[in-house]
Amino acid sequence: IAAVSVALTGCGRTDPGTEGGDDAAGFAADASIGVALPDQTSENWVLAGDLFENGLEEAGFDGNVQYAGSSNAVGDQQQQIQTMIDSGVEVIVIGAADTNQLAAQLEAADAAGVTVIAYDRLIQNSDLVDYYVAFDNFHVGELQAQSLLEGLEERFPGQEPWNVELFSGSADDSNSAVFFDGAMSVLQPAIDDGTINIVSGQTSVQQTATEDWAAENAQNRMDTILQTSYQGIQLHGVLSPNDNLARAILTSADNAGLETPVVTGQDSEVASVESIVAGVQYSTIYKDTRALVAATIDMVSQLQAGEEVTTTGESDNGVTEVPSNLLEPVIVTQANAAEAYAENPDLEPLTQP
Ligand code: BGC
Repeated sequence: IAAVSVALTGCGRTDPGTEGGDDAAGFAADASIGVALPDQTSENWVLAGDLFENGLEEAGFDGNVQYAGSSNAVGDQQQQIQTMIDSGVEVIVIGAADTNQLAAQLEAADAAGVTVIAYDRLIQNSDLVDYYVAFDNFHVGELQAQSLLEGLEERFPGQEPWNVELFSGSADDSNSAVFFDGAMSVLQPAIDDGTINIVSGQTSVQQTATEDWAAENAQNRMDTILQTSYQGIQLHGVLSPNDNLARAILTSADNAGLETPVVTGQDSEVASVESIVAGVQYSTIYKDTRALVAATIDMVSQLQAGEEVTTTGESDNGVTEVPSNLLEPVIVTQANAAEAYAENPDLEPLTQP
């Protein structure tokens, strides 16, 4: 249980990163900071939990990191956030389980004077989100779509129109539509000019959604599409919003006996990096979780010190523009994997022959 210091001055710590002493401080240097993460639907969330635990402690804070369980993620997270507020946290970092279901918790945070930082997923339709830290999700989608077109040219040259299917993420995650819109900004012209053919005809974010970001849902949808629309036809490519779904889609195509289609991904999950290096999955996105967590903890430290917070712009959540720090995602294919992961001790060894 967190021991919360509410003293604003004279806590006797020296914080090497803070200038101006305690007078300017927003709150105590050893304040309690809540981190509410969704259920562990991809490796980035698993990594983030550990990084927050260690990083907040190193920065001198009393961190309280919680995951929502998979069976009742929304209810769990609402409860966890309320408990954090009641325990006296100064800041709550939220990776939302459902980006539309936190109204009551944000009201409670506001009433208690708690600063809310949306992490990775932008909480929608509330003017009580103070900051947002994430990778540029629209650009993630653009990069995925560009790599899909490149991969089609590389693996299936001269076979236009290429037969392609589209997948998006879970509808309760506001990132899903942003990834998809970014991707469609690149793919729509290729659909319109007939370079690619969406054989199933399913082209909206609703039709292509993958509930709960669950691999089995993507695999089932791919199985059904292959059975109904691909008898005797080669599937050339699939826009997949992340790695976990990409591997399920590849399994489905493999079970159907197809030549390996070009499949995109995201997150640089270990199994997908191996698959890319082996020439199976075509691409992934590298969003270095270490950098994202570090940027978030920097923001907490800036708030603590009463300093100006680092932002790169603003993000529209439906009712307001939320000051945002957006980092740059990197596209990774077999061609640049070694270079892209050169400084990541978890991923770099996977690219070695
Ligand atoms: C994250 C992705 C992740 C997905 C499923 C999204 O909000 O941005 O990196 O693949 O959630 O966990």
